[in-house]
Amino acid sequence: MTASFLLATSNQHKVLEFKSIFSPYDVVLHTPTEFGILSDVEENGSTYYENAYLKAQSYWQGGKFSVLADDSGLEVEALDGAPGIQSNRLLPDPNATSTDRCLYLLELLKPYPQPWRAAFHCEVVLLDRQGRLKHSHGICSGQIIPEFRGKNGFGYDPIFLVDSSDQTMAELEPSVKNQISHRAKAVLGMISQLKLPLRQD
Ligand code: IMP
Repeated sequence: MTASFLLATSNQHKVLEFKSIFSPYDVVLHTPTEFGILSDVEENGSTYYENAYLKAQSYWQGGKFSVLADDSGLEVEALDGAPGIQSNRLLPDPNATSTDRCLYLLELLKPYPQPWRAAFHCEVVLLDRQGRLKHSHGICSGQIIPEFRGKNGFGYDPIFLVDSSDQTMAELEPSVKNQISHRAKAVLGMISQLKLPLRQD
């Protein structure tokens, strides 16, 4: 039987990335908007895993759905791993944009010598209808650069130069990002745990 998961996110960039990463596999992905589900979970965990679990739980609805959630962030070596799980809240202003956060991160990094080594992290959690948990972690390494390059992706992608590439995450074609990203690696780890079959058509 084809597996089906509810994606525990309202981030449309993430939805597109999950759909692309799962596209070769025999699985149906649903979004909260299809069911009119709203969730405003407080991400107050102390790890990516805890936050991903909190998100999954908030969409689980007593076992109505198998829920797939992720929590992700950017860890910068010179900042001792910050912003990490606070990546989306690097600026306290709820109206701050991704550009504001990138500019602020570049300000924080100014006193430090380059290269500004960094890595994206992603934890993916699957909470199945019986309440059983599986999880998987993915990392993508690179460095922060002091200029914005590329229009694809989201968040810190324009200032993240991918290792062994001369492109930022935002310059990569989405199909390439979705093969090498932290999210792709975490999802592929989950796919192999679940032994999801490839699509037949
Ligand atoms: P969350 O996983 O929804 O809590 O968001 C984490 C934050 O980390 C995002 O809002 C982005 O700022 C950043 N982030 C996570 N994944 C990516 C990515 O693939 N590209 C760029 N930024 C990301």
